[in-house]
Amino acid sequence: MSSEFDIIITTDRTMMTNHRGKEFIGFMTTGPALGMPERLWLWMCAPKPKVDDLGRPLEAPYGLRKIEAALQDAGFRAAIIDPDHLGRHIERAKVLMVGHHDYFALASPSIEWWLITGKEPVNRRSFLRLMRRPEVRRARERGLRVIVGGPAAWQWLWNPNYIREFGVDTIVDGEAEKVIVDLAKRALEGGELPAYVYVGPHDAPSVEEIPDIRGASVNGLVEIMRGCPRGCRFCPVTLRPLRYYPLDKVEREMLVNAKAGLEGCILHSEDVLLYGARGLEPNPEALLKLHALAKKHFRTVAWSHATLAGVKYAQERYKLITKITEVLYDDHQDYLGVQIGLETGSVRLAKIFMQGKAAPYRIEQWPEVVVDAMAILHEHRIIPALTLILGLPEETEEDLIATAELIDKLKDYRSLIVPMFFVPLGRLRDRGWFLREHLRDEHIEVMRKCLWHSVRWAEDIISKFYLRKPSQAPLRFMLKFFISFVKWRARQIEEQIQRARSEGA
Ligand code: SF4
Repeated sequence: MSSEFDIIITTDRTMMTNHRGKEFIGFMTTGPALGMPERLWLWMCAPKPKVDDLGRPLEAPYGLRKIEAALQDAGFRAAIIDPDHLGRHIERAKVLMVGHHDYFALASPSIEWWLITGKEPVNRRSFLRLMRRPEVRRARERGLRVIVGGPAAWQWLWNPNYIREFGVDTIVDGEAEKVIVDLAKRALEGGELPAYVYVGPHDAPSVEEIPDIRGASVNGLVEIMRGCPRGCRFCPVTLRPLRYYPLDKVEREMLVNAKAGLEGCILHSEDVLLYGARGLEPNPEALLKLHALAKKHFRTVAWSHATLAGVKYAQERYKLITKITEVLYDDHQDYLGVQIGLETGSVRLAKIFMQGKAAPYRIEQWPEVVVDAMAILHEHRIIPALTLILGLPEETEEDLIATAELIDKLKDYRSLIVPMFFVPLGRLRDRGWFLREHLRDEHIEVMRKCLWHSVRWAEDIISKFYLRKPSQAPLRFMLKFFISFVKWRARQIEEQIQRARSEGA
């Protein structure tokens, strides 16, 4: 069957999946398969999506949907194709566009799983398998143009060998909706393509220039704003301008997902509680309207990201966490998931790298802000996956001890805590990577605390909140088995470290 698409947009299986409707399960795609064969691991965390008879997935990553919409709006014959169905389209297509969150497992947490276990994470293995498929190679040899982008576009610059091996014509680094149309035109006409396009703050699209998605996004994710005003120096998001989507635009995208039959929605923002904010002052009216709108169209609603200072302030000043959960919780939903950056327990490092993170509280109050916000989240059954950064430049033993002490204070609050190694991005992109040889005892102690905290609460989350339908019993069993395996392996490693220390003493 010949293809009707000139431009194919795709990614590998670890991205083209809905992670069984649980974003936290998506974390498993960043690690190597542990305690089980890789196929079983992928079955658990990256099941294949439903596709139509052309191989177009029912749900696709939101970023790819934006590119698809920009191209279709401009009149191109472009579509997102599931990786298993590339073969029937790629023979005739002229351009292949690929996006990813972590092409080569260089971002956190993939990189630390890789460094700690010595095994390649499945996201990297899956992506390399995709690009090395015979049909992709044959299409490249016959002149297929290849354009790559997405949040992990920077990783190609660290892997020039793969640029050559996979015949990448152009890397697009930054928000691509505006530039992709011109690149597609040039690629289809056989014109010259730039090797690298950086979309800086001045070239970023305005809200009006950002197209609405035309097909459903994974787990009903819809953007509500772009950018973040907090200015953390290690973060690339902070280099982008701040833009809020008006409610009618958000609703149009929600309707695309609802019409596709999705029952859940994820509100995407770097800090959902800043939707419609004036500076850092929350806008209760806008937030309550947004959540009521989401709940009107979906059974369940989740947040992509929030900040701990935002949670504490919104609750203390406006009782907003209580009000929002009152809007959301009903017979279909009794908890809310979110990812939040804890980053460090050290006030000294916080002052250097994330002055705005505790605002409107003083940065000196950071540990107190963290604990207070976590108590509020726990009380409202909001379950955060907290991320920590290990190996920030200038980090000292005392900084790590402060982080370890803060983790101890969080022990009663339902959450996962995921340590991540520092990756030079944002305003720190010229600093050195944190590598395995930089690990010292204090890092290991922080990682140990995170592991036991997360294992304890993961068991609680699985038994009380996750996968409660009878049909989900096999997956629940597999996850419980996996957690038991992690506990067993962690105890083994702890004993090995203990033995090595006593032999060295
Ligand atoms: S609060 Fe989060 S998104 Fe905002 S600048 Fe800091 S790390 Fe980036």
